[in-house]
This record gives sequence, structure tokens and C-alpha cells, in this order.
Amino acid sequence: MGTGFFFDEHFRLHDMGEGHPECGVRLEAILERILETGLEHALVRPIVHPATEQDLLLAHSAKHIEYIKALHEALKLRLLNEPGAFAHIDPDTWMNANTWDACLYAVGAVLGATRAVLAGELTNAFCAVRPPGHHAERDTAMGFCFFNNVAIAVKYALEFGGLKRVAVVDFDVHHGNGTEDILANDPRTLMVGFYQHPFYPYKQKIPTPLNMKNIALPAYAKPEQIREMIQEIWLPELESFEPEMIFISAGFDAHRDDDMGQFLLRESDYAWITRQIKGVASRHSNGRIVSCLEGGYNPRALALSVESHIRVLADMEHPF
Ligand SMILES: [Zn+2]
Repeated sequence: MGTGFFFDEHFRLHDMGEGHPECGVRLEAILERILETGLEHALVRPIVHPATEQDLLLAHSAKHIEYIKALHEALKLRLLNEPGAFAHIDPDTWMNANTWDACLYAVGAVLGATRAVLAGELTNAFCAVRPPGHHAERDTAMGFCFFNNVAIAVKYALEFGGLKRVAVVDFDVHHGNGTEDILANDPRTLMVGFYQHPFYPYKQKIPTPLNMKNIALPAYAKPEQIREMIQEIWLPELESFEPEMIFISAGFDAHRDDDMGQFLLRESDYAWITRQIKGVASRHSNGRIVSCLEGGYNPRALALSVESHIRVLADMEHPF
């Protein structure tokens, strides 16, 4: 038992060009923080195995998987004459020679965490993965995301883990449109989230699917306002749903020092949110939580926020 920390070197090798905010430095900052705080010694570091294309089919169409794979194969040929070339999916979402493998290892990490938590080998887990996943829809890669790591693992827990009810909590500053697209109207799932509005990706489904409680909040929403919304909406929804396992789309770009969004959260808010989720998990889910990195683009703020999040998961909080 204990808290797993899933990381693999493939995550660092995926790159979308110089100056792109979704870069390997993000993970380096997290790893350095885990080391310098000694937190590493409190965590279990399992080996990550890559996912299979069969795994991807849990949440994506064969057409989408083939499209990404074909881009990868074509890029490999191009790279013979054009070193450093990228395959462009949209203005924000590029592939390099290592992206395909990074994607398979990212999904593999979340599936590995899911299996270990379901088997009772770990109480909970944090997956420090790249690329992120929550914007990836069933048929569409977008917003730095290719495959939806969390949605694939949710489907796995339902199809192969013997679970009947699984919840997703998404606290990234952006709307988790991909997860919403894949899980919409599946009564075995509940998704709660918040997101800055109006803001990228402008893809909220209308009418709102019944199992989705993604709450739009204005730029500069105060942390107190966010906590109040969580107490009034997320927590009652989660309590009455009684999830048997909780997945977290853990984006940290709602931090006040992260210029990607205009929310004002601090590390203490991430600790508080994690405590609320952990409370629900301890009452209904046997403590089972798998948390997966999404956004977070200020490396220092990201590293400190991930530390706060993991400290709560691992019962290693600083005494106050
Ligand atoms: Zn984000």
C-alpha cells in the first residue's frame, strides 16, 4: 500500500518546438521538487509499461488512432531528410519523433496506476505524465492532447476492473472537453470540474449531459468562491453518486502565478481541494484515487502545487 508516483523518461522526450509552454521542463521541475523535499522516499515508483492500441480503443475511435499513428509514421520518414521536423495537428498541438511512444507510455502509466490501486497494491497514485489528455476527444486531438489518459483509465476500471460507478474530478483551468465528450451520458460515470469562462476550448456541450457538473467561473474568480462552489456543488454530487474510484485530471494552470489562465489558486488551495476529494474517496471508494497531470505551465508554481497535492495523497502534510 502507499502512494504511487508514475513517471517514465519517454514523457520528457515528447516536444512541440522551442518556446512551447507544454514542455519537458515542467516534469523536471516536479521531479526536482520531489527529490529536494525528500518526498520521493515516501512514494512507490513502479515501472511504467506502454499501453496497447487495444487500450486506446476504450475511449477513442479506430479512425483517430490510425490518424495519429499515420502522422507518426509519415514524420519518421520525413525526419530522414529533415531533422527536427514536426507533424502539426493544430497550431498548438505538434508531434515529434517521440510523441507516439510518449502517448503510449502516458496511457500506460495511468492504466498501471489504475490496476495497482484496484488490486490494493497502492492506496492511491499520482501520474506525472506528458502529453496531457483531457482535451482529447473520442475522434480529435487538440489543445496539447492526443489521447485521453484519464478517460481511457475510467473505461478500463468500468470494463475490466469490475466497478459500477467511477467519478472524475477536473481542476485544470480549462474545460475538460475531451473527457466530457467521451463520458457524456454514461450513467456509470460522474464528472465534476471547474473552468475559466469564456476561455479555450469553447466546447461546452449544450444541453449539458446529465452526468457532467463542470462549472464555468469568470476570470479572477477568488479562491474562496471556488471553495464555496466545491462545497455547494461538487461535494454533494460526489457524495450522492458514491463513486467506487475517483480519477483526478490534475491541471495546475489555475494557479495565480500561471499566466496560461486567470484564476488565483495557491498551493494551499490545491491541498484543500485534494483533502475534499480524499474525504469522499475514504467514505465511498476505499480511498481509491488515481490522479493524472494535465496542465500547469509555470514550472515553479507547478512543482510546489504538485508537492501540496501529493503530500495530501500520501498523508505527508506539513504540520501547521
Ligand atoms: Zn489547462
